[in-house]
Amino acid sequence: MRLKQTRAIFKFSRKGFIEQINKMPKEKKHKHKPVLTDQSLQFLKNYINNPSPVGFESGGQKLWLEYIKPFVDTHFIDPYGTAVGVINPSESFKVVIEAHADEISWFVNYINEQGLIYLKRNGGVDHQVAPAKRVLIHGKKGLVKAVFGWPAIHTRIAQADQKEPLPKVDNLFLDCGARTKKEVEHLGVHVGAVVTYEEGFDELAHDYYIGRAFDNRIGGFMIAEVTRLLTENEKELPYGLYVVNAVQEEIGLRGAEMIARRIKPDIAIITDVTHDTQTPMINKVIEGDVSCGKGPSLAYGPAVHNKLLKLVEDVAEKNKISVQMRTVSRSTGTDTDSFAYANDGCPSVLISIPLRYMHTTVEMLHKRDIEQTIILMYETLLELSPKTNLSYL
Ligand SMILES: [Zn+2]
Repeated sequence: MRLKQTRAIFKFSRKGFIEQINKMPKEKKHKHKPVLTDQSLQFLKNYINNPSPVGFESGGQKLWLEYIKPFVDTHFIDPYGTAVGVINPSESFKVVIEAHADEISWFVNYINEQGLIYLKRNGGVDHQVAPAKRVLIHGKKGLVKAVFGWPAIHTRIAQADQKEPLPKVDNLFLDCGARTKKEVEHLGVHVGAVVTYEEGFDELAHDYYIGRAFDNRIGGFMIAEVTRLLTENEKELPYGLYVVNAVQEEIGLRGAEMIARRIKPDIAIITDVTHDTQTPMINKVIEGDVSCGKGPSLAYGPAVHNKLLKLVEDVAEKNKISVQMRTVSRSTGTDTDSFAYANDGCPSVLISIPLRYMHTTVEMLHKRDIEQTIILMYETLLELSPKTNLSYL
C-alpha cells in the first residue's frame, strides 16, 4: 500500500516532477525552454474549445486542474468551483496569481409553442453578433445543436419605409429543429439550460490567435504556464503561491470575492484581457491607446496598489518587457477589485493582455503578448518575498 501511494505522489507531485527533470540526461534538460511549447499550445486549444459557461465551469476546471497538478504541491476547489493550485502550502505569507475561468453564455428562458427558444444573458454576451451563429444547448440529455434564427434580408427589407430590426435579447431566438415545445423538451432542453457558441480556437497569419472566451481563459492558461515554468526551472519561492482560476467573474467578480476571503492573501496579481483600441469605432480619447502585439498592459486605478504596480513596472524594465499603461476609474472591471477590497485590504495589481473584439466569438490576441505576460508574471513572482515593503507611508 505504501509503495503504491509513494508512486502516485511521485507521479503527480511538484517535487516528483523536479526529480524527474533532474534524472533526465543533460541534453534533454532544457533550463530555458521557449515560453510556449507544443504541449502547452495543445492544452490552450483544448481549454478554449471546451465550454465553461458562467456558473457551470466544472468541465473547464477539470481540464485546467489536470494540466497544472504536476506543477503544484496540492490543490483544492471551493464550494462554487473555483480551482486553486498551491505551491508551499505551509507558508503563512500568501501570494495569489489569478484569472477567471468562466465564459459568457446564454440561458434558455422561454420555449414557445412553435419550438423556438428565447434566451436570457448569462454574463455580458453580445446580442449584436448573435444572429446566424451556431450554438450548443447544454440540455439534460447532453448537447443539442441549434442556431440563432434571423429573418432573411429579402423579408427584412420588404418595404422601403420599414426600419430593419436590430438584434435584441427579446427578439433573438434559437431554432434547434424542433417544431413544438414538446419536441424541444424531448431533446432534454429545459428552462435554465445554458447555451454556448460553437466557434473555437484558430490561428491567423502573423501569430494572431482567435477564439471565443479568450476572456479570460487565456488568463487561466497564462497562470498555468507561469506555474509550469516555476517548476521546470526549479524555482523555490519564499512564500505560499496560490494559483487561482476563479468562477463567476462575468456576472460581478463573484468567484474572486469568495476565494479571496478563503485564502486571505497578502498580495494578489490578477490577469485578465483589456481592449486593443486600434480598430475602427473605438474612441482612444475614452478607451486609451493599447495595441495587440505591444506587450501586457498595466493599469493605474485606486484598487491597483501603487507600490506593487511600481514593482511590476521595474520588473518589466529589468527584463526588457514593453508594457502599455492605461488608467481605470472607480473600478478595474476585473477580479482585481474583489481581491483589493477583500478582508482587510490586499495589495493587488492587474496585468492585462490586449485583445480585439471582446465578448464576440472571434476574440483575437497576439502570441507574443501571451508570452510576454507570462514572463512578466513569472519574473514578478521571483521578485516578491514576505519582506517586500508595500507600505504607503
Ligand atoms: Zn469578459
